[in-house]
Amino acid sequence: MPLEIYNTLTRKKEIFTPLVPGYVGMYVCGPTVYSDVHLGNCRTFISFDIIYRYLRYLQYKVRYVRNITDAGHLEGDRDEGDDKFSKKARLEQLEPMEIVQRYTLGFHEVMQLFNNVPPTIEPTATGHISEQILLTEKILANGYAYEINGTVYFDVEKYSREKPYGILTNRKLEDLLEGTRDLDGQDEKKSRLDFALWIKAKPEHLMQWPSPWGMGFPGWHIECSAMSNKYLGKRFDLHGGGMDLAATHHTNEIAQNEACFNESPAQIWMHTNMLTVNGTRMSKSLGNGFLPHELFTGNHPMLNKAYSPMTVRFFMLQTQYRSTLDFSNEALQASEKGLKRLWEAYQFLQKLQYEKGEADAELNEKVLKLINDFDTSMNDDFNTAKVLASMFELVPVINSIKDGLIKTGEMLESTFILLGKKFKDYLEDIFGLKNSDEINDGKLAEVMHLLIDIRKEAKTKKDFATSDKIRNQLNEIGILLKDEKGGEMSWGLDV
Ligand code: AMP
Ligand code: ZN
Repeated sequence: MPLEIYNTLTRKKEIFTPLVPGYVGMYVCGPTVYSDVHLGNCRTFISFDIIYRYLRYLQYKVRYVRNITDAGHLEGDRDEGDDKFSKKARLEQLEPMEIVQRYTLGFHEVMQLFNNVPPTIEPTATGHISEQILLTEKILANGYAYEINGTVYFDVEKYSREKPYGILTNRKLEDLLEGTRDLDGQDEKKSRLDFALWIKAKPEHLMQWPSPWGMGFPGWHIECSAMSNKYLGKRFDLHGGGMDLAATHHTNEIAQNEACFNESPAQIWMHTNMLTVNGTRMSKSLGNGFLPHELFTGNHPMLNKAYSPMTVRFFMLQTQYRSTLDFSNEALQASEKGLKRLWEAYQFLQKLQYEKGEADAELNEKVLKLINDFDTSMNDDFNTAKVLASMFELVPVINSIKDGLIKTGEMLESTFILLGKKFKDYLEDIFGLKNSDEINDGKLAEVMHLLIDIRKEAKTKKDFATSDKIRNQLNEIGILLKDEKGGEMSWGLDV
């Protein structure tokens, strides 16, 4: 069965045929680096990591571009005021690029903990200002934009007279207009749906660049058109991001590319579904975002213990990327158990030697079918959940060998070899799971809980010598203890 991918644009699964045989160009919208990434963001990046790993497993040469948004992302939809980086920089009395650097480093650290492979190119919006200006000039020259007072707007109504706007989410212009608020007199744009390609900066604005329209900064959507075009060309294979980006960011990206090059950028648009908490989308603005470190340390009121990065990664794999995934303690606990069971079977399998024996055709058939189902399920729009279900059906077979109830020789030697190979290919290479920190992380968190309990007791008894000793000595080995409100304590690694 060939690889089929669900295309948001056509609303159906399509057989994947790359534009250039053997090569795949993939663009994924990356993080906006003005705050820590939360677990919802991580779900999207882990999903695309698995897609990237699977495409490589299929022997494609993949150019994987994932950008860093470090300029031009405004609060709200007014196309004016401060961008998110300048706002944070002002609050913290730092340079905006210090904010960008801090959260880019934090993002990379989290990606590494989750064992995500870095993209092959990671371009930044600030590194591509001239490309964004060039595209804006082209859109203006082609008549799909207008300038007012140093700000350049994309003319959605003019565009939609020639090409359908909103096709990605299958919405008509009238419906879209209904969903937006009226211009309130302060807006200078012609129509409610128009969006800024370039925004005039007030003199006090911290991040601004010279342009043909005066000092300003780019709108958010133009960066992805500029960078995908630069590194992947006018037309490429896959474009991805979270589902929340489809209605505006990606819709505008398509309009910009059409207005520039008379072509839509991607063959297939892929959108990951949201990670939710009690059914509500995890988001920075709602403040219900769990930080990866809160999970790894267990420092969160909703968590009753710490979870290792691999448990969290496994938890995400148990649901296909297009379904919503609800975050809870119980679900994580189940994932922890499931991973342990699977990994123990895998480790046993790796050490196992084949011994000739009496063939059992039925067993052989069963094992072969389940192994082949791995690829079939991945080819069915990267259904990691189904692959894991097949793996879990194989675990009792492996455990029966362990318990001496079945002999390896009851399968053909080729089946046995394939079983070991596919487990390795899938668990390590495609799903990106690894053993190393699984046990250690969990143990460290347990030990920290114990030390925190002892320190709390010491404090209650006013034994400050012991309480300080624990804090200071942990500090020396790079573990920071923080006193929280109400006598609680949290900890983290001094990275
Ligand atoms: P941001 O840093 O907010 O620009 O988001 C980075 C990526 O995370 C984007 O592709 C978003 O669509 C995605 N994202 C944001 N919230 C969630 C969520 N709750 N679940 C899954 N993906 C999300
Ligand atoms: Zn983007």
